[in-house]
Amino acid sequence: MTVQKILIVDDAPADRLMLSRCLRARQPDIEIVQVERAEEALVFLRQQVTDCMFLDIHLPGHSGIEFLEGLRQAGLMPCAVVAMTGSGSDRVAVEALKSGAHDYLPKGRVNEVSLWDALAYAVSRYQLQRETRQRELQLEELNQELERKDRIKTQFVANASHELRTPVAAITGLIGLMQRTELVEEQRKLISSMKSCCDTLLLVVDDLIDLTKIESGALELHNRPFRLGQVCEQVLETVQILAQDKGLELHCRVDSEISRWVHGDPSRLRQILYNLVGNAIKFTPSGSVSISVAEKGADCLRFEVMDSGIGISEAVQQRLFEPHFQTGSLDHRAKGSGLGLAIVRSLVQRMGGEVGVLSRPGRGSTFWFEVPLAGAPEGQEESAPTAQGSQHERGFRLLVAEDNPIAARVLALQLQHLGHEVTVVSDGRRAVELASSGQYQAVIMDCQMPELDGFEATRRLRESYSQHQLPIIALTANALLGESTRCQAAGMNDYLVKPAPVADLQRLLEHWVAR
Ligand code: ADP
Repeated sequence: MTVQKILIVDDAPADRLMLSRCLRARQPDIEIVQVERAEEALVFLRQQVTDCMFLDIHLPGHSGIEFLEGLRQAGLMPCAVVAMTGSGSDRVAVEALKSGAHDYLPKGRVNEVSLWDALAYAVSRYQLQRETRQRELQLEELNQELERKDRIKTQFVANASHELRTPVAAITGLIGLMQRTELVEEQRKLISSMKSCCDTLLLVVDDLIDLTKIESGALELHNRPFRLGQVCEQVLETVQILAQDKGLELHCRVDSEISRWVHGDPSRLRQILYNLVGNAIKFTPSGSVSISVAEKGADCLRFEVMDSGIGISEAVQQRLFEPHFQTGSLDHRAKGSGLGLAIVRSLVQRMGGEVGVLSRPGRGSTFWFEVPLAGAPEGQEESAPTAQGSQHERGFRLLVAEDNPIAARVLALQLQHLGHEVTVVSDGRRAVELASSGQYQAVIMDCQMPELDGFEATRRLRESYSQHQLPIIALTANALLGESTRCQAAGMNDYLVKPAPVADLQRLLEHWVAR
C-alpha cells in the first residue's frame, strides 16, 4: 500500500515526532503535515487531498471526538482516520469509532508495525465506505429514474385510458339507443354482441383507470351512510344471470347482529365484492358461490366470498394480488385483465383493511377481507337506478354543456328517452348565458370545454344561483387528479366520470332536482 499525504493532529510535539519517525521508517518520502488544533486540521482538510489523519482524541479546547462527529454529521469525512488515544481505554476507542474513526491506536503501543497496520486498516475501511456510499448514491439515482419512468408510464396509461373511454362511451350509448329502435331478430343479436364487447372493453378501461388512480395516490373514497344489505343485494343481482348460466347456487348471509347502516364508500365496496364474486363464478364449474358478512370486533366487518371451484395452489396464493397475475386456463384468461385482485387489494388497503385467500386446489377458495365500517344512523336509501324513466311523472328541463358533438348527441338522446327536455350547448360561456335565463332545472356540465371550462362556468352561475336553485352535475373525463375536490370547490352539486351510465345520471338528477 502506498500513501502520499498524512495529517497528524496532536498538540504534543514529542508525540507528533514519534509518529512521523515511525511513518518515515517505512516510507521515507511520505509527506507529513503536522498541526496542533482541530481548527487548523479543518482548514487543511478542506484544501488538500489527504490519505489518512492521525487524530489525538484529547485536543486542547476541542475534543477530537467532537471534531470527528462534526465532520461525520456534515458528511465531510475526507480521509481515513486513526484515533490516537492516550489512555488505551476501550470506552474512548469505541466512542471514536462510533464518531467516524476507522481505527484507533493507544499512544503507548505506537511502533512502526502497529502504526502502519492501523494506517492500512483505516485506509481500506475508508475506501470500502466510500465505495459503498457511491453504490448507494448510484442506486438512489437509479431508483429515482425508475420512479420517474413509472410516473410517466402511469400518466400515459391514464391518458390513453381516458382517451379510450370517451369513444367507447359514445359507442355504448349509441348501441343502447339502437336497441330501442325496431330491429329484425338478426340485427338484435348482432347489436347485443356489440354491446357485450363494448361493456367488456369498458370494464378493462375502467380497471386500468382505477389502477393508475390508485398507483398515483389519487383514489378518493366517498364515505357516507349506506345500507350494507343493499350493496350485497346489488352485487348478487348483477351476477345472478352469470351464476344461472353456469347452474351455480348463489347465497348471501349477513349476520343479524350487524347494524343495517354503516359509514363507508358503498360503490367501492360494491366494486370489491363484484370482483371477488365475479371471479368465484368464473372459476367455479359447478356447485355454489356465497357471500357472508360477519362482525369482526368493534366497527370492523369481515366479508367472505366462498366458492366450490377449481381452487388455487399455495405457491401461487402469495402472488395472486399482484397486477396482471393470472393462473387460470387460457380460456379463463381471455376473459380477464388480471387487474381485478390488484384493485381489490388496493381498495381494501385504502379503506384501512386487509385482504387474503384460503384455498386448496380442487377444493374451492375463500377470498376474505376485513374493513373498518362503523355503524351509522339509518338514512335514505339510494333509489334504484331507473334507466327506463318509468318512475317519472314528467321529465326535467335540462341544459347539457358538452363540446364533443357525438358525446353530446348520445347524452341528449339518452336523456330524452328518459322523458327529459334537453338543450345542448358546446361551451361554458353559452352554458352560463342560457342557464342564467332561469328556465332550466339542472345543468349537466362537461368540465373540459373551450372558451370557458365547466369549473369557471359553474363559479359564474353560483354568483346568482345556489346549489338548491340550480343543481349542476359535472361530467369529467379526468378521474385522476382529485377531480371531486375541484368540482366541489367550483360549486358543483355532484360529479360523474365519463362515460357516466345514464342510470347514474338519472339517480343524481332525482336526488338534486326539486320537483
Ligand atoms: P382476472 O381479471 O384475470 O380474473 P384477477 O386479478 O381478478 O384477474 O385474478 C387473477 C387470477 O387469480 C385469475 O386469473 C385466476 O387465475 C386467480 N383467481 C382469482 N379468483 C379465483 C377463484 N375464486 N378461484 C380460482 N382462481 C382464482
